[in-house]
Amino acid sequence: MITKTIKQYTLPNASLGNARSLKIIHYGDQSADRKAYVQAGLHADEAPGFVVMHHLIDLLDQADAENKIEGHVVLVPVANPIGVSQWRDEALQGRFDFFNNTNFNRQYPDMTDQIAEQVKDRLGSSAKENVALIRKATGEILGSISPPDEAAALKHQLLLLSFDADVVLDLHCDYQALMHVYLGTPLWPDAKDLCAQLGAEVTLLAADSGVTPYDEACSRIWWQLAKKFPDHPIPSACLAATVELRGMADVSHAQAQQDAQNILWFLQRRGFVKGAAPEVPPLKNEATPLRAVEHLKATAPGVVVFLKAPGDRVDKGEVIAEIVNPLADGPQDRITPVKSAVSGIVFSINTDRYARPGRILAKIAGKDPIKEKGEDLLSP
Ligand SMILES: [Zn+2]
Repeated sequence: MITKTIKQYTLPNASLGNARSLKIIHYGDQSADRKAYVQAGLHADEAPGFVVMHHLIDLLDQADAENKIEGHVVLVPVANPIGVSQWRDEALQGRFDFFNNTNFNRQYPDMTDQIAEQVKDRLGSSAKENVALIRKATGEILGSISPPDEAAALKHQLLLLSFDADVVLDLHCDYQALMHVYLGTPLWPDAKDLCAQLGAEVTLLAADSGVTPYDEACSRIWWQLAKKFPDHPIPSACLAATVELRGMADVSHAQAQQDAQNILWFLQRRGFVKGAAPEVPPLKNEATPLRAVEHLKATAPGVVVFLKAPGDRVDKGEVIAEIVNPLADGPQDRITPVKSAVSGIVFSINTDRYARPGRILAKIAGKDPIKEKGEDLLSP
């Protein structure tokens, strides 16, 4: 029996005559207590995820036709219908909301205190029952929120679809980059099979990145509640990850098909799709703290010439790029070297070549933290 069903959620109108909607694809038993959720394009200008979704739908359709779906699998192939409509100067601008300049993947609500208030007298000694209790309370709190505008309604709806999921994969990409994954620290090493199967070359861990992106809104409540209630077993019940599918221009059927297959094998191992997945490949590089990432910034205006590329290993003090200013007098003055403050792996560089002081030019994953707890650890 085919279980696939398609639902539509229409966002409240923000302008006269314009309605935008989310397409939500469900597979399996929608009342099952196990749920996996995958979305693409929350940053709507990050194209690779849409093509991965195209192939993942094919794979799940096939699994569904063969009665292989277990639990409940939800896909939102285009998670940001607001962002995908934001064209300016021949380019899609899908990261920040044109209306208020807010990053679509920041400032999700942190519901921990509200949940704690609701469950504090009802937690028990069964982890399973505590998980159910916390999910029920989270659903009630989300249900009581009335989002004030279209973008808030979008964020709210995405959380409503995923707050009770065991697995949440949020597909993104960087500018010019290696495959990399952001995860909550308490999810490691449990999530190692995800990163290994995806072929992630960098895995970045933070218990709190400081800006509550979507994945953290789903996962962080669990370890925050566990810390608040040490006498009750509260597992990290939501493995939420931001998956960075390399760079903006890394779009091909071959790669997207393999990425979709990797996600399917991961879901198979986690019991959402029947059948045996192949042995997990070895993890390419051990996970490192997000606090050890250097966001290498320009210190002068000019044109950037990169001396290093994603995948290069660099030493502290090594020159990663030069900023060229043709207006300066001497040949030495025309060059500003940009040096790494960490030893590590360059995993992303900017795609355009203009520098202004403070602009992030590259990201380098070091091993030891260089940032304080509580700092904003993500790019704007
Ligand atoms: Zn993104």
